Amino acid sequence: MRLLKNVIVAMCISLIIFAIMPNPEAHAWGNGSSNNIDYPYYGIHDAIADVAYQKLKDYNGTVAQWITDYYLNSNGEKWGDYEYSFNDGSDNWLGYTDDLDSYFKDYSNHMYYVHSYGSHDKRGAPDRIQQLYDWILGNLTNWIRDGRPERSEDEHKAAYAAGLLAHYFSDMTQFGHTDYTKQDHEYADSRTYHNNYESSQINTAFLDQLLYDLNAYDFKVNAIIANPKDNAIQLAEWVNSHDNTSVLYYDAPIGGNVVVGSTYAQMITDYVSNYDIGIEYLGAKGYTQQLYQQTLLHIKAAVGNLTQILYTAYKNAEFAQTESEITINLSASTLTLGASIEVSGSIIPSHTAQVTLTFIQPDGKILTYVLNPAPTGSYSYTFSPTVAGDWSVRASYDGVTSQIRYFKVNPRELDTTTLLLLAIFGIVMIVLLVYLFSKKRSRK
Ligand SMILES: [Zn+2]
Ligand SMILES: [Zn+2]
Repeated sequence: MRLLKNVIVAMCISLIIFAIMPNPEAHAWGNGSSNNIDYPYYGIHDAIADVAYQKLKDYNGTVAQWITDYYLNSNGEKWGDYEYSFNDGSDNWLGYTDDLDSYFKDYSNHMYYVHSYGSHDKRGAPDRIQQLYDWILGNLTNWIRDGRPERSEDEHKAAYAAGLLAHYFSDMTQFGHTDYTKQDHEYADSRTYHNNYESSQINTAFLDQLLYDLNAYDFKVNAIIANPKDNAIQLAEWVNSHDNTSVLYYDAPIGGNVVVGSTYAQMITDYVSNYDIGIEYLGAKGYTQQLYQQTLLHIKAAVGNLTQILYTAYKNAEFAQTESEITINLSASTLTLGASIEVSGSIIPSHTAQVTLTFIQPDGKILTYVLNPAPTGSYSYTFSPTVAGDWSVRASYDGVTSQIRYFKVNPRELDTTTLLLLAIFGIVMIVLLVYLFSKKRSRK
């Protein structure tokens, strides 16, 4: 009994120690610090979400309005705090991006480890990104349907889900979230190398330069991201290895080799050796200009893809509200058996979806053909009927159906040589019959 009591006491003490220890490692790009007077609560997560929003707004203010309505907090500031943000704390765009760390503490889903390492095979981020994308889309669709009421519940939820998505998505561009090594999670001073790289070494000079470089980054905003989950996986795989190769990395704390991506291996090697020597760049220990440039390249990819995902969510929500139609035209209204007819048309407004053509034969039999239209939504199909008579055809996609078009297929006409031969044959037969008949009569 006393043993049990001692065990319980020991467990309670260790739980208390665990609880009072500061979170040894925020699992993310940084969320900033309240101590930075230039950038309060503003880390790399905030920089990525901030610039992605600005790029979307610069491209088209209407497309970005649902974020604009939540960009500033009630004090007219863009800074977000490190608390639960939705209807609490700093309820604004940059406030949303830290909730995964400050409130949900959903740490294991901030990774996409390309290679497995013992129990370290965490790959939850892309699924979270897809869930949040679907939530944004549903809320935006309702908001647009209702006439875009300013700061309605649907608009609020869409902006919030997008802020959370921005966090998971940008985590895919921290190389330390694309594979695990013990070395990355070793302590250097009071923080891990991992945390120093992504957060605790990032201060004003670094953020000044990063924002300058990100604002100068020019990319195509109006691109449709077909699948946000796959997009996140591709991004993580690219950050992990630019040349798509795996290498053996000597993981010193365990004294053995582990398999990681080539870019991961190079970046962790550089960061740890720079840090240990005491090199710094833009006030960030462990960075060199070269490592900064490499990190910038990854963060640019986060900004570009995130902006396109926000654009895609809006456009797809808008499309769901549009009166869409599919047109159909025929190259002829009558044709002869053996000839072909071209069926063409477009989905309006342009949209990519599979188009089904349904033909009804003169005998009532139904023929269907599935086509992939061009990216503009236009389609065309050449059809050769095998039965003469009256036909009909219509086109459809995603439950939208075109008008019905009719065409007539005439039997094959006989050519003049055949007609001439048939005429000669007929005359010969008549002459023969007349001859045989008259011969029979004269014999009587
Ligand atoms: Zn991290
Ligand atoms: Zn994170």
